[in-house]
Amino acid sequence: MKTYKGIRGRRTILKASAALLGAGILAPIGSAFAQMALNRTQDQILGPFYPIMSKPNRSGDLTQVPGGSGRAKGQLLIVKGRVIDPAGKAVAGADVEIWQANAVGRYAHPDDTNPAPLDPNFEGFGAVTTGADGRYQFKTIKPPPYPITPTRTRPAHIHFGVRGRHDELITQMYFEGDPYHKTDPYLQSAPDPEALIVKLSPPVPEEPDFIIAEFDIVFRG
Ligand code: FE
Repeated sequence: MKTYKGIRGRRTILKASAALLGAGILAPIGSAFAQMALNRTQDQILGPFYPIMSKPNRSGDLTQVPGGSGRAKGQLLIVKGRVIDPAGKAVAGADVEIWQANAVGRYAHPDDTNPAPLDPNFEGFGAVTTGADGRYQFKTIKPPPYPITPTRTRPAHIHFGVRGRHDELITQMYFEGDPYHKTDPYLQSAPDPEALIVKLSPPVPEEPDFIIAEFDIVFRG
């Protein structure tokens, strides 16, 4: 994996930083070394439902499809955040892709055997490019947990693929309070599962129908 070198390098820097801190040479707060300690967002599997039937919707609004009859079913959700590098600097021009199940847990993918119906107004596949401030935003819906076998259910999540000039990250974002977190082998395979779980915020007056999830992404840019 391309991250091994990076992780080793970061550990070396952290060790060196600790030694300098101990010797009183390095200021503990606000130093460049302290900022370099930001962890890369943890990888998660791509999963079986990466879209193959369509190109991503690049409008930033997945709750409508071109030529559709209305708005996607489900709890409207804004997913937004910053893409930053390990030093905390905004990554401009990163391509942020998301894909996800619809309001009843079904992917618009031919391999999804879930009998739940498709939503003609939701394809669940979008992409945007970060601006100079590293920010991205999507309008979408909050997916529910969905069954992967008769006895196993995955917690609700949105898949992310983030590509920059030097790095590519595949991960999944989860929602606080989901009863399936503890039994999900994919989430639990992350060294720090909590870091992939977001809190939900109530709507703001400008977008009264959308609850909000903020998910910042750290990669090498
Ligand atoms: Fe999934």
